[in-house]
Amino acid sequence: MAQTIFFIIIAILVFNFLLERILFLLNKKRWNLPIPTELADVYDVDKYQKMQEYRKHSAKFSLLFAIWSFLIILLFLTLGGVPLVDSWARSIMPNAIVVALIFTAIIGWTSDILDTPFDVYGTFVLEQKFGFNTSTVKTFIFDKLKGWLLGAIIGGCLLALFIWFYQTTGTFFWLWAWFAFSAFTLFMTYFYSDIIVPLFNKQKPLEEGELRSAIEAMCTKAEFPLDNVYVIDGSKRSKRANAYFTGLGKRKRIVLYDTLIEQLSIEEITAVLAHEIGHYKHKHSIWGLVSGAVQTLASLYILSLMLNYQVFTDALGVYVPAIHVGIFAFGILYSPVSLILGIVGNYYSRKHEYTADAFAASLHLGDALISGLKKLSANNFSNLNPHNAYVFFHYSHPTLLQRVQAVNKLKSC
Ligand SMILES: [Zn+2]
Repeated sequence: MAQTIFFIIIAILVFNFLLERILFLLNKKRWNLPIPTELADVYDVDKYQKMQEYRKHSAKFSLLFAIWSFLIILLFLTLGGVPLVDSWARSIMPNAIVVALIFTAIIGWTSDILDTPFDVYGTFVLEQKFGFNTSTVKTFIFDKLKGWLLGAIIGGCLLALFIWFYQTTGTFFWLWAWFAFSAFTLFMTYFYSDIIVPLFNKQKPLEEGELRSAIEAMCTKAEFPLDNVYVIDGSKRSKRANAYFTGLGKRKRIVLYDTLIEQLSIEEITAVLAHEIGHYKHKHSIWGLVSGAVQTLASLYILSLMLNYQVFTDALGVYVPAIHVGIFAFGILYSPVSLILGIVGNYYSRKHEYTADAFAASLHLGDALISGLKKLSANNFSNLNPHNAYVFFHYSHPTLLQRVQAVNKLKSC
């Protein structure tokens, strides 16, 4: 039985790898298709050529990275990496929580170190060559260190808490863990801007001026009281532009990347923000929180069932009770379920994007939104002809063409 489970684990890893390769190849075939007429103005000839070149480079790079990650996990599992790391962890201190923390830290940290050469190449060679990267070596190193520290503190606390519930609260430990995780998620949603963002970026309220007045006028028109518009120094790492909505209730805020302000006109920025407000008005963030909580509940319940059976731990070569090994096995065995949940989540997310676009269009900002999205697509070297299968699996947003067509349709009715 343990051997069958081991083969299922390997089969899932192979399946995930092959699925990604197939989707990627399907997508790749569409790079050279002519650009749809609605999007003819996105790229000029020069930029289009540069984009094609970027695609080729980044395709090679991501293929190598995927093969590398795939081989490492495969070798780790088949050469008995799990029992080895488990016995190291046990030799330091026999306490179950400490063993789990050490085991997870070794695996997490090693895999991050092994990925680092690719990170470095991606940032300082690939993104650099095509003019995206603005990150310095110092920023890069500090980001890594801060990421590790944050992962150790947050991940460590949540893992320790989970095992503590497992040891002390009996059959319904998964429900306790769920309450704790949900409370943590809610806390983070409220205080993300105050706790996490300052570790990596500087943010300040948007200054008085033409842009701020335009945004305020739009908010009044949208009947959306908003005092918190912030600008963040995204240009510290990359030229890529973005804007996002964060927080809940009184703590909600809109955050604009300084790169967005640089690249888009005032009307286009206002339209992008109207889109974000559309998400809020239609309660998409609450929907996201609730569906996330339900998914966590389901996965914790399934994990709790698995932890009743020693066979999942045996499958990875550890023949004594080891909750961390059970969690590790669950991480892989559950991935087909996450894949399906991801597809469902993306499906709804794409629907929400249309709704938010329609909200911006209802404020007569449809044209500005389209021209803003086109500029962002061009500046990010977006693929204008993605394959349907790729979109189905991976796109949380409709394609640019679909969004342009949907907004134009709204205008004509
Ligand atoms: Zn959106």
